[in-house]
Amino acid sequence: MSSPSIPLDVASAIDHLMNFLSVEGVTGQEAKIGAAVSEALKRVGVPASAIRFDDANKRIPVPTETGNLFVDLPGTRPGPRLLFSTHLDTVPLCAGAKPRREGDRIVSDGTTALGGDARTGVALLVVLAETLIKHKLPHPPITLLFTVREESGLHGARELNPADLGGAAMCINVDGQLASELLVGAVGQENWEVEIKGKASHAGVAPERGISATLVGAIAIAEAQRAGWFGKVVKSDGHGTSNVGIFGGKGGTVAAGDATNVVTDYVYIRGEARSPEAAFATKIANGYKEAFAKAQGEVKDHEGNTAEVKFSQKPAYPPFELGQDTPVVKRATKALKLLGIEPTYLFSNGGLDANWFDKHGVPTITIGAGQAEIHTIKEYVNLTEYEKGCRIGILMATLED
Ligand SMILES: [Zn+2]
Repeated sequence: MSSPSIPLDVASAIDHLMNFLSVEGVTGQEAKIGAAVSEALKRVGVPASAIRFDDANKRIPVPTETGNLFVDLPGTRPGPRLLFSTHLDTVPLCAGAKPRREGDRIVSDGTTALGGDARTGVALLVVLAETLIKHKLPHPPITLLFTVREESGLHGARELNPADLGGAAMCINVDGQLASELLVGAVGQENWEVEIKGKASHAGVAPERGISATLVGAIAIAEAQRAGWFGKVVKSDGHGTSNVGIFGGKGGTVAAGDATNVVTDYVYIRGEARSPEAAFATKIANGYKEAFAKAQGEVKDHEGNTAEVKFSQKPAYPPFELGQDTPVVKRATKALKLLGIEPTYLFSNGGLDANWFDKHGVPTITIGAGQAEIHTIKEYVNLTEYEKGCRIGILMATLED
């Protein structure tokens, strides 16, 4: 297949990326990068009236400076609306990043992460707007969406108003690594937590009068593991993963117990369960609930009293998976093949904004644009992959249906 001519200005695309990488915007603190993106969009010809922020930050349960950024580009030909998305925030390790070009990479100075996750996506969406406008490329109506607080729990995507998606038929989310990799699904997650209230007693003088919350927690976790609910979970009716993340005292931020001579009267434990099936993630969390109930019955004081065990579980985000015949998968496949790239279809074991867009009714594929070694101080951007990602984006925006 002959490669289509795509009027991508590579030097300008890299300039945009360098610019956005140099603006700090860790999760929850997206005001500055939001303003920088908004300015860049105006400079490439997007009217100010087409740029707006929503009020999702008012619904996000953790402090968040600004809402999600939406941009509406009217179609220059008819067709179903396309949504292009990415996230504005970076992980806290990116604070103070000083991006530097090194051959076909952009790197940090080695003391911070870089923020290519997801500033490659941020730059790609601006490059897309610039290219469509500058070269008057025919395209259907397009909405660009830059979410907040992705890294700290997919909050912006979760709390947006689905009506703001303008009835988009499909979404191309830019938050991946290699241009050949198409993320077509992701697990869902359920979080659980438990509070164990035991009874303090002098551990040397009268241990039998105490109820050790630590012992209840320890037996429960051992029991969950014996029953097959810990770590990698494989059962006849489903599979997934689970973990016990925090085992501590009040709020999970202090130690459980504070002296060796006191029977521990309080423990707080928090964990997660993931699965491609929401119901199975719930089932894994239920497995922990049963394990804690069992452990509760095994630890008693001299009068036969047991600890108080308060277990709760809550879905964090829903799973999704797109079939090969989904229009957005077909469109992405077509774009990659036109560029001579053989696609691989991946299922993610971590949640993505795509989980929520899919839940909001917009089938979403996640494409890669050069992220590498993310969330580490070795993070870099692979410029070859970034350039390919930009071409995929432009093709997906302009392909005839
Ligand atoms: Zn990301």
